[in-house]
Amino acid sequence: MEGVSFICASIFIDAPTGATGALERAAAAVSHGARLIEWRIDDLAGDADAAKALSLLISRSPAPCIVTARSAVEGGRFQGDDAALANLVRSIAGLEHHPRYLDIEANRFRSSPAVRDAAAALKRRPAQPDAPTSVLLSVHDLLGRPRDLIQQIEWMTAEPLCDVIKVAWTARSLRDNLEAFELLRTRRKPMIALCMGPFGEMSRILAPKFGGLVTFASDAPGNETAPGQMTIERLRGLYRFDAIGARTRVFGVAGWPVAHSRSPHVHNAAFAATGEDAVYVPMPIAPGYEPFKATIASLIDEPRLDFRGASVTIPHKEHLLRFVKERGGRVDDASRRIGAANTLIVGPAGAVGCANTDAPAAVDALCAGMNFDRKELANRKVAILGAGGVARAVAVGCAEASANVIIFNRTQERARSLAAELSALELPGKVVPGKPGRVNCGCFDIIINCTSIGMEGGPAPHDSPLDLLAEDGPAAIDERVTVMDTVYTPRHTPLIKEAAARGAKAIPGTDMFIRQAALQFHLWTQRAAPLDVMRSALDAASVFRWNER
Ligand code: NAP
Repeated sequence: MEGVSFICASIFIDAPTGATGALERAAAAVSHGARLIEWRIDDLAGDADAAKALSLLISRSPAPCIVTARSAVEGGRFQGDDAALANLVRSIAGLEHHPRYLDIEANRFRSSPAVRDAAAALKRRPAQPDAPTSVLLSVHDLLGRPRDLIQQIEWMTAEPLCDVIKVAWTARSLRDNLEAFELLRTRRKPMIALCMGPFGEMSRILAPKFGGLVTFASDAPGNETAPGQMTIERLRGLYRFDAIGARTRVFGVAGWPVAHSRSPHVHNAAFAATGEDAVYVPMPIAPGYEPFKATIASLIDEPRLDFRGASVTIPHKEHLLRFVKERGGRVDDASRRIGAANTLIVGPAGAVGCANTDAPAAVDALCAGMNFDRKELANRKVAILGAGGVARAVAVGCAEASANVIIFNRTQERARSLAAELSALELPGKVVPGKPGRVNCGCFDIIINCTSIGMEGGPAPHDSPLDLLAEDGPAAIDERVTVMDTVYTPRHTPLIKEAAARGAKAIPGTDMFIRQAALQFHLWTQRAAPLDVMRSALDAASVFRWNER
């Protein structure tokens, strides 16, 4: 069943006095790309002057509209009983102008003959001057997938008064989205199938791929009418909703949490700039190997999703490597050495592979920043601050390029064991633990921060790792030293500012971030990544995120 998917701006109206403001918001939403307006009259419906306000909203609506009075059990605020709902439907039938759709909860429609009769009367009304009103029967479950979901859909499909079926439930994992897609694919009537909450974003973004009639969106941050709803700007600007079709390939960022990841900004911009029919979405996966394996396998094993790859981040980088090995997939040398991967590649027939783009990206960013060739890294003394996942990848990258690596970490035992592990790989460069507290000895050519110190929202956003890890006096950095950060939010971390102020060459974490993303883009598309586009998208993402708050 082919169909067009619309963005519907959902707008609450609390009282009759709010109608004019709501119409202004609707006009702005339409100018931003909404093709439908949902008037959420949960509160308004109980007001004595509701009919007058409703008449205004419907007759002046800048786009065809859905009228909805959502009751509390289904996630709204409408307090009326069945008789009140039937009266509301009858009063809408009596208006001169009619909404394009009237949303009635399936449970009330089924259980109340009065509601059913009122809906039948509405549909019998002559169609002038508008198109006839279609009855949209809806089922919402805020707790999770309704147990009788399939039976409810069967029933709505068979119900002659039902023109459109809507089902929405709170997703417990990404896998719920796959069921929503399957329902859309096998629908026999126009349908909206959406998953709510953070796990459900995918169903909202990919509705056009599976022919969902509508994705609801808010006109501004904070105006959401359901959990997980995003703004029109985000749907169209970031996820290119209008460009998504049946053949669009799906990529994403898999991790926990992923809500603040900048990767969707960077990769979607790259897809847009190169004309790739692809979209990149958030893929939150709860910690642990089992959730990771089960989720990724289900995405891969649904061929109609066209899932072709993911950036994999904390806490799943080791899980990715294990998953790909278990499936007999291809593992690149960097992932094997590092013991973790950050890129999943899925072939059209479901064959998997993984790669680690962090290590080459770090070395590339370093060499580009120092304006020299990789060979010139040989024998340089590189202090790595941190002993976590990124430190491991960066240390491997540097030691592979024959640099001598010295690892410092707050938890010294971790620095010692990481150094011992990497030494055992017998890479061309040496890897040793640093003397505790001796970060500021002034004896390094390059210092790379691989801790999360300086990261916005992290454990020490206003600090420099040199101050926190040193016991040997003020930072000994000057114009002879190169300082690179891997932290990329913000671009100018306290460390980068300090390094620049002391005349050192300062390479921000954004350089590595863009390069690891560019390598992923190449692995997925076999094309050169549009680096400048990706850089501007990352810069713009900071502003975007700020505005979204
Ligand atoms: P991780 O495995 O959790 O390691 C965190 C490291 O930071 C550990 O060494 C930890 O020391 C240290 N640390 C945390 N808080 C500290 C504090 N208050 N004082 C001293 N040390 C502290 O994290 P990861 O995956 O390696 O990521 C590290 C950073 O890399 C992230 O913040 C992220 O911004 C950045 N990153 C950048 C890119 C890029 O492309 N540019 C990609 C991925 C990640 P202990 O061992 O003592 O706990």
